[in-house]
Amino acid sequence: MLQQTQVDRVVEAYRRFMERFPSLEVLAAAAEDDAVHAFSGLGYYRRARLLHASARAVVERGGWPQSARELARLPGFGPYTSAAVAAFAFAGDEPPVDGNVARVAARLGALELPMGSPALLAAGRELAGNLHAESPTPEVWEALMELGATVCTPASPRCGSCPLATACASLATGSTQSYPHPRAQRSREEQRGVAAWLEREDGRVLLRRVEQGPVLLGLWLPPFAVLSDGDDPGTVAAALGRAAGFEGALSAATTVRHGITHRDIRVLPFVARLSGHRVAEAREGWTWQDAGAPTVPTSSLLGKLASACRHSRLLPMWDQER
Ligand code: SF4
Repeated sequence: MLQQTQVDRVVEAYRRFMERFPSLEVLAAAAEDDAVHAFSGLGYYRRARLLHASARAVVERGGWPQSARELARLPGFGPYTSAAVAAFAFAGDEPPVDGNVARVAARLGALELPMGSPALLAAGRELAGNLHAESPTPEVWEALMELGATVCTPASPRCGSCPLATACASLATGSTQSYPHPRAQRSREEQRGVAAWLEREDGRVLLRRVEQGPVLLGLWLPPFAVLSDGDDPGTVAAALGRAAGFEGALSAATTVRHGITHRDIRVLPFVARLSGHRVAEAREGWTWQDAGAPTVPTSSLLGKLASACRHSRLLPMWDQER
């Protein structure tokens, strides 16, 4: 939960999650949607799906793998997580290197390496490994991470309180702020999309479970599609409506912007308000929901679309559903 997310946003969600899933077995037996729903408000829902898949894998194999190498086979376990779990849960000796450790290594050695680079991670592993060899206890890993988090901080390192100060090359040259070099920026991808906002008289909106794509997978949203060059938004939106069983006219609302990891998506919603309840009723993967209080896992994109569709100036259009 803490990956890419601040602690104060996580605390409540963590408590809720642990109440709902008090053991690995309970999590493994739950539906994936329940696990994803428990991440509501935290974003990055892929983490919830991977956590759920890992719980199932561990229960199926009859217990936790204990080495970093075996842990790395579990869904969602990258090199850092595998090393950290092995180190803290099973006293493993593979150094866990997070951004804090990498920053300390870069400053200690005045290394001309960007954050996130394999060479800097290797330097972090070497630093942590050497310290651990002197004092072979998991507290050494924790201490190094804490040093980075609380003393060798990104903006203003407190070198006067640092136990490694006498060995620090960047302090010796008065250049602590020059390290580490920033991570190479990945350019953001721009995409355009359309959504079909089909709303009943009782205010419920038709949502479909996203079954494809690297982003938003498994979340429930109004039917939407990413546009390719040359696609006509209205034509694509009408096709989305037809896939839901709605053949009437749709009206364009105002575009909403949504950022997902390295993508910016501009979604143009098309709206129809329905006078009956028979569109896409009782079909697997579809559901009518109150957009303000959905009971299925969704994205903040739903709230943005709701706001655009309900506050845009639309021509009144009470179409007959089929
Ligand atoms: S002396 Fe300063 S820059 Fe060097 S490791 Fe310690 S806190 Fe970081």
